[in-house]
Amino acid sequence: MSVFVEMFFFTFVVFCVLIDVIMEKALLLLKNFFGYDSFRTGQAELIKAILQGSDCLGIMPTGSGKSICYQIPALVLGGTTLVISPLISLMKDQVDNLNEMGISATFINSSLSSHDYMQTIENASLGMYNIIYVAPERFNSDLFLRLLSSIHIPLIAIDEAHCVSQWGHDFRPSYTEIASMIAKLEVRPIVAAFTATATKPVAKDIISCLHLVKPFTLTTGFDRKNLSFQVVHSKNKMYDLTTYLKKFSGHSGIIYCSTRKNVDLLYQELSKLGFSVSKYHAGMEDSEKRTSQNNFVYDKTTLMIATNAFGMGIDKSNVRFVIHFNMPKDLESYYQEAGRAGRDGLSSECILLFSRSDIVTNQFIISQGTPEIDRSIDYKKLNDMIDYCNTDQCLRRYILEYFGEIPKFQICHNCSNCNSDIEETDITVDAKKIMSCIKRMGSRYGTNLVTDVLKGSKSSKIQSLGFDTLSTYGILKEYSKDSIKELISFLMAQGYIICIGKQYPVLVLDAKANNVLFGTKTITMKRKIEKEASTKETSFSNLPFDSTLFEHLRTLRKKLAFINHVPPFVVFSDATLTQMATLYPTTKDDLLAISGVGSVKFERYGKEFMDCISTYLQEKEI
Ligand code: ADP
Repeated sequence: MSVFVEMFFFTFVVFCVLIDVIMEKALLLLKNFFGYDSFRTGQAELIKAILQGSDCLGIMPTGSGKSICYQIPALVLGGTTLVISPLISLMKDQVDNLNEMGISATFINSSLSSHDYMQTIENASLGMYNIIYVAPERFNSDLFLRLLSSIHIPLIAIDEAHCVSQWGHDFRPSYTEIASMIAKLEVRPIVAAFTATATKPVAKDIISCLHLVKPFTLTTGFDRKNLSFQVVHSKNKMYDLTTYLKKFSGHSGIIYCSTRKNVDLLYQELSKLGFSVSKYHAGMEDSEKRTSQNNFVYDKTTLMIATNAFGMGIDKSNVRFVIHFNMPKDLESYYQEAGRAGRDGLSSECILLFSRSDIVTNQFIISQGTPEIDRSIDYKKLNDMIDYCNTDQCLRRYILEYFGEIPKFQICHNCSNCNSDIEETDITVDAKKIMSCIKRMGSRYGTNLVTDVLKGSKSSKIQSLGFDTLSTYGILKEYSKDSIKELISFLMAQGYIICIGKQYPVLVLDAKANNVLFGTKTITMKRKIEKEASTKETSFSNLPFDSTLFEHLRTLRKKLAFINHVPPFVVFSDATLTQMATLYPTTKDDLLAISGVGSVKFERYGKEFMDCISTYLQEKEI
């Protein structure tokens, strides 16, 4: 062996041993500060890559624990790690969270007064912060740039990295400045980018726009196993909604509506019924929005009724359910909004109340809001969303496939399609009637008119077009209009009928419809036997923990949070309280063994929680 090879081999072995030692240290820090025993999927790999000096791109779903992937390296590397995030409203919670655990962190953004800004810059220049959160706009400030050149920055983490890509759904022009800002630094830090949503082209774009150098790239998939998905074809949404809310009583949840008007209306109705509600939409004053959001985040109200304007920047980990009162315009929005449930990893519910009028509302929103050249893309996405509401296959599978993932399972046992009783009916004859009606009408009309013809409507439009003389006129008159539309939606979801057209969607037949019309292909439709909302089990109501103790702990948490001016979930997450209400820890060692109890939090809150549990045990004589 040559001396050179020997040296190389020796260095390699030392490096491997060293990185193993460093990873052991990382694990200790995880336990000490965060109170967690092990890394979750993907975390150890990304942390290891960063600590080896490699740029990274981590694509991991919401709630999977991306923050720890840069927070732990920040602790190991020392100096000041910069975290670039577009979400100003989120920074305070994240910083509160870190400070609560004993990690020195701060944020620099436009919400600071000029006095606080100067003070923070001064402290930062003295190296007082291990982690600083900043919005990318900050790089336009000379003062801030001078700060960067005066301190040691081993790592820059870029959160919500998809914002740099014009192909992503949330492009922020200021993100495109990040790479040139990094290039100006005397010593280039390690750059680690994170996002929950990146298709392959977006991931490529992130790497190129941020100038990541041979990044270690890791995708852990989009699946959120703790979320249970339901689509409810609702005849009376208000009734279904209130039934669910009564079942979820006391738990935090978000209700999304597609319009401000609906938000205001629901807010009024639910307040009248005595529910504890906040509301949020873009038409409200900034101060009103802030109060409303804080009330929800600090558990002063349990329900948030909102348009899609609410959410970016919400890190509340104990949202137990998200109900969509209206179908959103695409699955990207749906998954992102529904994904705000269960960030703490506990079972949570995502329920979509669907009715056909949602389709019309969304078509209207697209026709008014989307520039003409992009409309066909939006209509296609809307059709995929409608198919999701009508599919009889596993909903989780449908979502994962939509995002380009090939799930390892056929059925997930945790969505309304997998868990429903299904009856299967042969609908070949009805399908033929619908298909031939579309053909006879010249494949030039949308669902409403086709339905009217099949139903045998006497409208003047149908008479003037001469459709009342077609052989398919009134051929499904025994069905309600809703049932006919449901059949059409189903045939669309199965790909026999396609909806084309930008402004005026038109139904046409796919070539495969010929196999039914002229061949021997039969079509069966699986119908869910819809259960009343009141008879359905919630996925989190029957968890095996002591719910009475949980309530005591929740009350204590709220009190301590109030005293310390932090949101309750920052004191301890629901997941941590659930474990306490299962294992009844009353000694230091037992409490430190609970996931989420680090040493600083133990010092800060341990005694009160142990006392609460001991008193409960004595009263119950357990
Ligand atoms: P993301 O940024 O991916 O949406 P977060 O970083 O906010 O997710 O983490 C979501 C939740 O999971 C937080 O409450 C966090 O403390 C918790 N978490 C992260 N990593 C772990 C871990 N290794 N063990 C247990 N809980 C974890």
